[in-house]
Amino acid sequence: MNTYKAPASLLSNKVILVTGAGDGIGKEAALTFARYGATVILLGKTTSKLTAVYDEICTKGGSEPAIIPLDLKGASQKNYQDMAASIESEFGRLDGILHNAGILGGLAPFEHIKQDIWNDILQVNLTGPMLLTQALLPVLRKADHGSIVFTSSGVGRQGKAYWGGYAVSKFATEGLMQTLADEFSESSIRVNCINPGATRTTMRARAYPAENSQLLKTPADLMWLYLYLMGDDSLEINGQSLDAQPKP
Ligand code: NDP
Repeated sequence: MNTYKAPASLLSNKVILVTGAGDGIGKEAALTFARYGATVILLGKTTSKLTAVYDEICTKGGSEPAIIPLDLKGASQKNYQDMAASIESEFGRLDGILHNAGILGGLAPFEHIKQDIWNDILQVNLTGPMLLTQALLPVLRKADHGSIVFTSSGVGRQGKAYWGGYAVSKFATEGLMQTLADEFSESSIRVNCINPGATRTTMRARAYPAENSQLLKTPADLMWLYLYLMGDDSLEINGQSLDAQPKP
């Protein structure tokens, strides 16, 4: 499947929200979705980064994006509901959500895990995406085929020493994805996970500071799977956790 070649108009007329759209994999996904015709809603913490992505999409002739500055750590249910209302009034529907934003929270031996960091990781990586999904369901249901994509990790399938809260948040993300996929299986909405695999970003550099990042895949190398799951070629795919860098 990693030979998937998306047609140039794969995402035309689709409205797709990307969290963590200002940097790393999320930035590349936002630029790529726009290049394939989508109107992208850029959600993230740092407004200047979102503005830079907005400008790049417009300069390259993509359809004008929307920007939602939002910190998943502090956002309330009301913030998500207000956001859903403004998406509904501006676009009338939502075709896809890419839950990409995430934090590592730092690696630490179990006995040194601090509760505030544990809580932050679960809030940003799990509870925020859950509340966001809940608020956006009505507007997703207005699309012909809604696609929800969560972002997992290798440590969301096999625990690893020192990855504490981050690993637990990714296991829970896989569980949330499976639960929603089953619950929505009779609906027009499909729900899946992507495990990006080792990718050249700030987060990866933080987790593996001694590694030669030039040997890693770039976010652009993964985009075939992001396109596949957002486009209508994957309508039959539901409840799966797929690798963006599958083993040969
Ligand atoms: P980066 O750290 O490069 O980017 C993370 C993005 O998430 C940034 O845009 C950041 O915004 C945003 N973000 C962080 N915290 C918040 C918050 N509280 N509210 C809103 N947005 C926030 O990470 P990657 O691109 O590497 O990771 C993307 C996803 O892929 C994550 O879910 C990660 O767990 C997963 N992943 C990555 C792997 C890798 O090797 N890179 C491997 C496996 C999984 P800002 O810049 O403004 O802080």
